[in-house]
This record gives sequence, structure tokens and C-alpha cells, in this order.
Amino acid sequence: MAKIIDGKAIRDYNLDLMKKEVALLNEQGIHPCLAVIIVGSDPASRVYVNNKKAACEKTGIISREYALPEETSEEELLGLIDTLNNDSEVSGILCQLPLPEHIDKEKILERILPSKDVDCFHPENIGRLSIGNGTLLPCTPNGVMKLLEYEGIDVAGKRVVIVGRSNIVGKPLAMLMLAANATVTVCHSKTVNLSEITRQADILVAAVGVPGFVTADMVGDGAVVIDVGINRNVKERLCGDVDFENVEKKASYITPVPGGVGPMTITMLMRNTITAAKNS
Ligand code: NAP
Repeated sequence: MAKIIDGKAIRDYNLDLMKKEVALLNEQGIHPCLAVIIVGSDPASRVYVNNKKAACEKTGIISREYALPEETSEEELLGLIDTLNNDSEVSGILCQLPLPEHIDKEKILERILPSKDVDCFHPENIGRLSIGNGTLLPCTPNGVMKLLEYEGIDVAGKRVVIVGRSNIVGKPLAMLMLAANATVTVCHSKTVNLSEITRQADILVAAVGVPGFVTADMVGDGAVVIDVGINRNVKERLCGDVDFENVEKKASYITPVPGGVGPMTITMLMRNTITAAKNS
């Protein structure tokens, strides 16, 4: 049976360390501050924003919320970002996605100064990551790295297979894994003989968005299985991309959903906010 990686405990451990770090920074006159922009009233976005505020409170990071109505124009949103870019008290800016359809997401995300881009979505930060020179790191992928590090799983020299090549999970995770000296294979919907590839993984990461996609026959004995997926099953309950019940019997380590990778994403957002404050 696999050891279950407890993302909530690892989150609490990291937030505790950050709380101490923020207290020390405050003594030096540095006050990390996260500005979160939410446009419209999407209930899921509201939950995410509230969770981010709660994590700020736990760590002593100042949080500012800018809740804008659904009909906010692109120009107005760009104007707010310019104001926050120029506000020396703001360390990090996050624009909660999704945005209403009349707003060009790329235009908004690229307007945030790279030095304040705590989500690490700006092309400059992705470019820096690709050349191994990132300072602000992509939150979910970095959360995966931190889970492995906490468990003492060294990725150097390991065969890592990532299923999913999105710009926010699969691709940036591949960059972090390469920087940590793993041998990385990235799979996607056009990959041929997927199971043959996934079975060879020492560390298998699922970032697909399909409930129960990774079945036990796709996993090699003793593999570490990291489930990034956050989905709803037919009973509307949260579930990952991995058939947890059966894969657990084959893997050496496994992350649950909920309570695995999920809690680490906001934790790494706090990390980036502190880094941005220190570098400003
Ligand atoms: P995405 O943008 O939809 O990308 C999904 C990836 O899976 C794509 O690269 C796609 O391939 C690949 N894929 C789809 N069907 C496949 C198949 N049959 N075989 C092989 N590959 C297949 O999703 P995402 O944003 O990366 O998110 C993935 C999951 O992670 C979702 O459940 C999401 O909710 C979750 N997530 C969790 C967190 C967290 O904090 N834990 C953060 C972000 C996302 P193609 O590129 O060929 O289409």
C-alpha cells in the first residue's frame, strides 16, 4: 500500500515557516502584500479568493481585494492593474480567472509587471523558468516539487512522466523537473501507447482533468503517483485524475484528492508574494 502524501500537513508546515519569515521581514520594514482582483460573481472564483485571503491571514501577508462588477471593461481592468503596478506597497498582483468573455485574458495577464506576477503566468516569467532562471515560480507545479521534497523523494535521475501539457501545469512542471535533473516525458491527447510510457515512470504526474483517468494498469510497481486533477465525479464529489483506490495498492506514494496537490497551490502563491516583496 502506498504512503499517502498529506498535502494539508505540508501546507501547514510551509505556512508556519512563512509566518515566521514574514514577521522577520516586518521588523525590517518589508510588508508583503497581495492584491487580488475578482471580476464578476462566479461562486468558484469567490471560494478561491476567500481561500487566498485566509492563507494571507495565516502568514501575516497583507491582502487587498478588488471586487469588480461583471460589466467592468477591459480598459478599466487594465487601468486598475497599472495603478497596482505603480503602487510600491503592493508586492504581488493576482487576477482571478476566469474573466468575463468580453475581456482578453492574455492582455490582462501580460499587463501585470513580471516582478509582481505571483501566479507566474507572464511570458517573461515562463521564459525565465525555461532557462532555469525563474524567481517567481508557477504555483501548482512548484507545489508538486515541494510535496516531493518534503517526503524526501529526490527527482534527480528519475524517470518522470507527466500526463498533460497545459501552460499552467504540465509544461511548467516539466521545466521544474528538468531543472531538478529528472528525465522528463510529457504526454498528451495525441500520445501513442500512453500506458506503455506511464508504466515506466518512477514518478507519474496526472494533470489531465478526467476523473479516474490513470488506472492501476498504467502504473509501474512502486511508482510515486501525483494527482493534480480537481474534478467532480458523477456524484458531484471532488476527485482527481487517478483511480485512487486501485492505484494506491501499486504505488509507493500517492497524493489524495482533495488534500494532496490542491492545498499546495495557494501555499506557493504565498511563497511568491514573499519573494516578490523581498525583491522589490
Ligand atoms: P487542460 O488545460 O485541460 O490540459 C489537460 C491536458 O490533458 C492537455 O494537455 C490534454 O492534451 C491532456 N489530455 C486530455 N485528454 C487526454 C488523454 N485522453 N490522454 C492523454 N492526455 C490527455 O487542464 P489543466 O489546466 O492542466 O488542468 C488539469 C487538471 O488539473 C484539471 O482537473 C484541473 O482542474 C486541475 N488543476 C488543479 C490545480 C491544483 O491546484 N491542484 C491547478 C490547476 C489545474 P492536449 O494538450 O493534447 O489537449
